[in-house]
Amino acid sequence: MTSSPFSYNSPVVSIEALKHSIAYKLMFTVGKDPSVANQHDWLNATLFAVRDRMVERWLRSTRAQFSQDVRQVYYLSMEFLVGRTLSNALLAMGIYDEIKQALDEMGLSLDELLVEETDPGLGNGGLGRLAACFLDSLATMALPGRGYGIRYEYGMFKQNIVNGQQAESPDNWLEYGNAWEFPRHNTRYKVRFGGRIQQEGNKTSWLETEEIIAQAYDQIIPGFDTNATNTLRLWSARASNEINLGKFNQGDYFAAVEDKNHSENVSRVLYPDDSTYSGRELRLRQEYFLVSATIQDIFHRHWQTHHTLDNLADKIAIHLNDTHPVLSIPEFMRILIDEHDYAWEDAWDIVVQVFSYTNHTLMSEALETWPVDMLGKILPRHLQIIFQINDHFLKLLQAQYPGDNELLARASIIDETNGRRVRMAWLAVIACHKVNGVSALHSELMVQSLFADFAHVFPNRFCNKTNGVTPRRWLALANKPLSAVLDENIGQMWRTNLSQLSELTPHIDFPKFIADVRAAKLENKKQLALYIAQELNVVLDPHALFDVQIKRIHEYKRQLLNVLHVITHYNRILKNPDANWTPRVKIFAGKAASAYYAAKQIIHLINDVAKVINEDPRVKNKLKVVFIPNYSVSLAQLIIPAADLSEQISLAGTEASGTSNMKFALNGALTIGTLDGANIEIQEHVGEENIFIFGNTAEQVEELRRKGYNPRQYYEQDEELREVLNQIATGAFSPGDPKRYTSLFDSLVNFGDHYQLLADYRSYIDTQDKVDELYQDKDEWTRRAMINVANMGYFSSDRTIQEYADEIWGIESVKL
Ligand SMILES: *Cc1c(COP(=O)(O)O)cnc(C)c1O
Repeated sequence: MTSSPFSYNSPVVSIEALKHSIAYKLMFTVGKDPSVANQHDWLNATLFAVRDRMVERWLRSTRAQFSQDVRQVYYLSMEFLVGRTLSNALLAMGIYDEIKQALDEMGLSLDELLVEETDPGLGNGGLGRLAACFLDSLATMALPGRGYGIRYEYGMFKQNIVNGQQAESPDNWLEYGNAWEFPRHNTRYKVRFGGRIQQEGNKTSWLETEEIIAQAYDQIIPGFDTNATNTLRLWSARASNEINLGKFNQGDYFAAVEDKNHSENVSRVLYPDDSTYSGRELRLRQEYFLVSATIQDIFHRHWQTHHTLDNLADKIAIHLNDTHPVLSIPEFMRILIDEHDYAWEDAWDIVVQVFSYTNHTLMSEALETWPVDMLGKILPRHLQIIFQINDHFLKLLQAQYPGDNELLARASIIDETNGRRVRMAWLAVIACHKVNGVSALHSELMVQSLFADFAHVFPNRFCNKTNGVTPRRWLALANKPLSAVLDENIGQMWRTNLSQLSELTPHIDFPKFIADVRAAKLENKKQLALYIAQELNVVLDPHALFDVQIKRIHEYKRQLLNVLHVITHYNRILKNPDANWTPRVKIFAGKAASAYYAAKQIIHLINDVAKVINEDPRVKNKLKVVFIPNYSVSLAQLIIPAADLSEQISLAGTEASGTSNMKFALNGALTIGTLDGANIEIQEHVGEENIFIFGNTAEQVEELRRKGYNPRQYYEQDEELREVLNQIATGAFSPGDPKRYTSLFDSLVNFGDHYQLLADYRSYIDTQDKVDELYQDKDEWTRRAMINVANMGYFSSDRTIQEYADEIWGIESVKL
């Protein structure tokens, strides 16, 4: 990079100084002799050298936040899917090329070291990745905020494909340590469970609890091209010293240690559920563990500077990423009332001003509820407070809508129709001053369906904040070839001002520009092809159309609809082998929740179909199918820049926003998608000529459901569809086990096809034909892809975070 506009991209850092600090760190921090150090040791040495340079800025930022006494946002999330950190840190500090050169001169390769870093799997999918993009934007924009989460010892499981099926193994991401984290041995809080409550006058106490310790681990979140940094604080469970003394004294060492293990279980493992509810008691304990430690920490920090809690509402905003941390609401009330003697009304006033909540799904099966009994057993005082919140709210409602008992039952936090359960989303909506959806469509449906009653009671509470992704990781870092073309044409400032991509528009008519973009895409495709050749032993033609669907495997995301297209396309090739087929590679990746049978069947089917097609000599290079195991942030960074076509084909009304749709379009892929989630806004920005939209709208989906959807009718009337489904049902792709997919067939044809694949099949296939046709004209394809890129500025998470800052949190940038 020459004549960089970024202050940190032409730093006064000498290569010699970097070499010296890496060598120094290897000796004195890693404790190894250069002659015996392995790649991982060198990675850690490099990492510590880089981290040192970050710490300075971190301390300065933290001091500035304190001294300016600005309002802070605390972002609570059970997941942070941050991805690898070294490359991002180098980019943020503008020393990427310098470190590369320093390592080079030491006989080491930065690229080789980067892939040694383990991808922390502390999230399941979109929700966790969103939290990570938000931290990046907060830091880059110097907004005062911190993330709070759990330091799971085991992340999302590792996925292997064995005989075509998903096999899970533990993701022991901490096995070789984590050089990024700062253990805070003195930042620890007691987290209590169980026990009983005692009432004395109007004083309530929570007694005889079991206790565990939450200990903080901090990680620096560097902002890009700025001194500003933020902190991600993760909690780890430790057994409390005070327990087990009885057992020790009785000489029962093993029982005592067993108890210790039991309490440390709380931060052991991330629940591998994306949007289906998991009703395990341990999960509830995890949620409270995060909440309790975090709220205590927030109060402690506030008290240190202000010596009062009266001004909490002026100084802090707490954001709940989905309902998982909703227990922070009764926890906040409990501390104010039981420990600081606040009156109920005063405490409640503060709560409403402080809290806000993001809804991530409208699907009823994914909404979090807990049995009243279980909550009462684990958190008796919190259950009592939830009942009080409910009583207050229902009284208000009754005054406003006298006699409407049905409304009262629907709006009650306690669902009496379903074995008495606490509806966590209801609690969030009642207590938060702002509730947002994550795309325009989702936010609209949210107030029309799930929260319709509340939208009448609290008309100003609901809003939309369309998701975004950070251009630093998802363009600058993931796609260096395309970034270089952009830099050459519009300069480098798009990294922090993504709307500048619109300046590409006049360049799109120049053949040289199109040729450069095509060359960049080809380079990315070759990189991916190399990985696939090495890992899967499948050889791909990089000139073929790379058609990609990578995301969690879920019925609503409709990977199965994609498979129906694969088989349709295969059948057509066999019937007419000499036609002018556009060569295609179908690429899939994604994990299925380990208990989700239908999703695992889909993975199995993809691999069965891939085997048959890839081994069929009549197909040759016209069609290939690959399933890349163990999807992760790092794999996404490799795959997305290589995509020509982005599959965003969820049933309209089911995907709240999607963010991979944004990453793909930003990297110059065209989208084939339904009018769902943020696809709609992508279409509005890029123009309908530049996106392949198909299928029923959310409204049509609803109407079909109301009128009585009959999938069998589509099966009977569409011959090509019938052939495909019959092949699946009769074992054409599982000849050794012909009945393997009969239940899958039944779920589509005979048991209601819940996600309406058959209704959208014909429209999808016809649209895929248009894709094939356009890809024959590669310049026109590239032109449209670049119109997409030029119009993706809106989908930066910087824009999203600015909206949260202005309209929900009321926070402003710190001066550094
Ligand atoms: C962006 C991303 C997601 C979200 O993908 P969707 O297609 O929007 O569901 C999930 N996992 C990873 C690793 C990602 O990078």
